[in-house]
Amino acid sequence: MVTWASVVPDLDGLGIVAERLTQNSRHPLTWWSDYHHVLGHNLGFAIVVATLAAIIAKQRTKVTLLVLFSFHLHLLGDLIGARGPDGDQWPIPYLLPFSKQAELTWTGQWALNTWPNVVVTTLLIAIAVLLARRRGYSPLELFSAKADVAVVGALRARFPVSAIK
Ligand SMILES: [Zn+2]
Repeated sequence: MVTWASVVPDLDGLGIVAERLTQNSRHPLTWWSDYHHVLGHNLGFAIVVATLAAIIAKQRTKVTLLVLFSFHLHLLGDLIGARGPDGDQWPIPYLLPFSKQAELTWTGQWALNTWPNVVVTTLLIAIAVLLARRRGYSPLELFSAKADVAVVGALRARFPVSAIK
């Protein structure tokens, strides 16, 4: 739930499928342009996600707090390093649906496809691989237990746990 909370704000970007499929039609849909960084990137959606976590989680307080943290970590990542392909900063209307006043931006924001994001992504993947080898599970377990077992097995076969400690 904590991991999913870190990506769930971008559900509002799924409108890109409809937008691209209808871009040359008579009635193009602009769901990505209109709703990305709007519907899922705000306090109201954070409360919805945290409430769902609180209902579902067995360790209610711990998981709910971590869900709120990871959700906001996503917003922070967008704020500092997700400038759009057209140069738009994609302001984050953080207080929606309670207020339209706060639109968060940062003047130092870098573009999504620039080197800081490559460096951070590479480092985090390396850490995930090291942790997967050591702990015996990887982020793949979110999608497939079988794939997770295969990847961890391959990592441990190539880099035995006892050999690297
Ligand atoms: Zn986002």
